[in-house]
Amino acid sequence: MKWYTEQWSDQCKFSIGYNEEIHSEQSPFQKIDFYKGEDFGTFFTLDGLMMVNEKDEFVYHDMITHPAFATNPDIKKVLIIGGGDGGTAREVLRYKSVEKVVMVEIDELVFRLCQKYLPITAAGVEEDPRMEMIFDDGLAYVQNAADNSFDLILVDSTDPISVGEGLFTTAFYKECFRVLNEKGILINQHESPYFTEYAENMRKAHKKIKGIFPIASVYQFHMPTYPSGHWLFGFASKALHPIKDIQVDAWDKFGLKTKYYNTDLHVGAFALPTFVKEALDRD
Ligand code: SAM
Repeated sequence: MKWYTEQWSDQCKFSIGYNEEIHSEQSPFQKIDFYKGEDFGTFFTLDGLMMVNEKDEFVYHDMITHPAFATNPDIKKVLIIGGGDGGTAREVLRYKSVEKVVMVEIDELVFRLCQKYLPITAAGVEEDPRMEMIFDDGLAYVQNAADNSFDLILVDSTDPISVGEGLFTTAFYKECFRVLNEKGILINQHESPYFTEYAENMRKAHKKIKGIFPIASVYQFHMPTYPSGHWLFGFASKALHPIKDIQVDAWDKFGLKTKYYNTDLHVGAFALPTFVKEALDRD
């Protein structure tokens, strides 16, 4: 067995065993590596950072998708920015009530390789007639999108470095606000509250979004293979509150079987530890 190792902070590393590296390629945007192991199955990294593995992808994809649908079960038009592995689109497409999904991924090669090596997330996504796939920069896409044209935006991006940087800017969040309709919801990466660099990303993202959206919350979940295992998404909306407006019965009626998400967990996920709340409130 060999070890894939990722540096989580100056004095913390994380390793996963694998049997073989099945693909390695430099795209115009990033270095893409696929590995095959036993415990975590097939996984891939971008520029040496873990993206998706077969063991815990359900946690991330449940949590990026379902809290928004439980808050607004009438979501019909969804914009996914990033999400090249297809897992977020897969979850969104499970809602038969969704009419249109636009996925804007900057790196087509990520999606093509996931179709080949990671069918658990990518299979069937492109073939769904409700799907429109665009291979372009998400920031450029929202800058040109019409006002009030989406019910939900899911930002399934890499960290705020390299190509992902523009998706953590005030300019991007302002465009998302404009593009969302009056009940619109934005879900986006808030990184981890541990390790200085990640916690700063979290604090800055929240501060920017709070200055634009009247409702801006953060929720947490357990993601074993992301730095510290404690990961956060932001929930922002023009009108809907993720706890006060949750529609438990309506979400149950969708009849979706989920492995991580449920509506009790939804409520609990917004109850944050004191150190996270304090960090989010800091200027
Ligand atoms: N679940 C993963 C995580 O949190 O690490 C993210 C997975 S998904 C593979 C992230 C995708 O965002 C990548 O495929 C990357 O190419 C895409 N991406 C990064 N910056 C982007 C941008 N500016 N516009 C569109 N897609 C972008």
